[in-house]
Order: sequence, then C-alpha cells, then structure tokens
Amino acid sequence: MPELPEVETVRRRLEPVLVGRRFERVEIADSRLTRPEHPAEVAAELTGERVVALERRGKYLVVRFESGRVLLVHLRMTGTLLHVRDGTSVDVPHRRAVVTLDDGSDVVYRDVRRFGTWLVVEPEGLDPYLAQRLGGEPLGRAFTSRSLAARLANRKTPVKAALLDQRTLAGLGNIYVDEALWRARIHPLRPARGLEPPEIRALREGIKRALDAGIARHGATLSDYRQPDGSPGSMQKEFKVYGRLGEPCDRCGTPIEKMRVAGRGTWYCPTCQRARV
Ligand SMILES: [Zn+2]
Repeated sequence: MPELPEVETVRRRLEPVLVGRRFERVEIADSRLTRPEHPAEVAAELTGERVVALERRGKYLVVRFESGRVLLVHLRMTGTLLHVRDGTSVDVPHRRAVVTLDDGSDVVYRDVRRFGTWLVVEPEGLDPYLAQRLGGEPLGRAFTSRSLAARLANRKTPVKAALLDQRTLAGLGNIYVDEALWRARIHPLRPARGLEPPEIRALREGIKRALDAGIARHGATLSDYRQPDGSPGSMQKEFKVYGRLGEPCDRCGTPIEKMRVAGRGTWYCPTCQRARV
C-alpha cells in the first residue's frame, strides 16, 4: 500500500511529465474511482485542463490546474500511475483511467483492488477538505518534537495506532510506522501520551529517517506499487523490521517478533523496543 515515500516518488517522477501539459483526452472506465460523481462527467471536467503544479499532501497527489481547480488522487491499496509514451497503454492490465496529454503520451491509472479515488475540487474547497482529514507533514519544517508531542499528548491509544491516524501526521502507514518505531527504540504498544521528551525526539528523528530512506530508494514494492516508468522501488530490501519475522535485528541480533496492533501486523525487536511495565 503506497505511503508517503511511494506517493512522493510518483510525484517527483510525474512532475516533469505533467507540468505545463494539457489533458487532451480523458477516459475513466471505473465508476468507483469517481463516485458519487459519474466518471464521464469527471472526465469531461478534466478535459482541456492545463497542469501548473503537481504537489503531495500526505498520501494524496494534488494536481493543480491553470483554472484553479484541483484533481486529488489517492492510490489507496493498489493504485498505480504509469507514464506511457508509445501508445501501449491499452495493454495495461487493470487499467481504470487514461489521460492523454498534449504531447501524445498517456498517464495510465491502474488499480487491481479498485479502492483508489479521483476527486475534482474547486479552488476554495481544497484546504478545508485536506485540513479535515490530515495532520501536519512529517517532512515539513513545522514537524518539530514540540508539534509531535502536542499531537500525541491526549492519546491513550498505542503509539502505533496514533501514528497510523492520518490526523496525527499525514502520510505514514503500516510499513513506515514500524520502521520509525524501530529506529526510535519505542515499543509499538506504548501509550502515545506516555512518551518521555527524549523518546519524542527519537521518534521524530525515526520518522524522518524512515521516510527519507524510503524516498531515497524510490519506495517499497511488495506487490503492486511501481514508479511511473514501471520499475519497482527497492526499499523492501532495506527494511529493519517490517515483514522480517524471525530474522536478526540489525542492531542487536535478536530475532524480530510480530504481533497485532490496531488490527495491523506489527514487527518489532523485543530487545531494542522493550515493553515498559
Ligand atoms: Zn534489536
């Protein structure tokens, strides 16, 4: 499932392809992608729009048009955006939408599980929409130990659950939360509000480092995620704990353990990330 590093990788790769280009033809073949709006209506709205910026907020891609309108794309479980130059986009399996740009190339949206969404937002609607759903950006300058402490202060839930909540911080998911907690040496079940100031600092650092590592390796490909040119990311080869049950911890050699937290498979080192009683 794409998290911040995967979405940021897609953004960086698509930015030079999209910015300045016009959506010449838009075909949306899946009503789930745009519901409750009709896919043909959304396709008509997007046709003729020129892209002025491609941004990211949390796990959303924010396509800004000259008209002021915005297309918000969320890849959810298995959404992928591919850039196809040679007209072979009809062969892409699980193709749900195709945007033909005014240079003749195609941006193809594929999605096996069909949980992804495309939403057209009017200029004044964007900030309220995102503010309701997302906390701060963990790679932004405003992400300080103080702001993180404030976000966790009243949360009785396990720190892992608090970090999965997009309103705490935008963009983290199951993979990078586990990777960040290992870096910070914090047990996933620790109550969020019980973290000491040094632990908060370590957690902030751990989050940034885990995300930076993911971006540097162009994301993690476990199943469907691909970069826009079709190539996989390589972060999955660098995981410290995620999916590594029984393998030795990089830091201390203890076999990695797995449990469930907030309904999600959770990997951790029982020595580096001790539970506190
Ligand atoms: Zn360890």
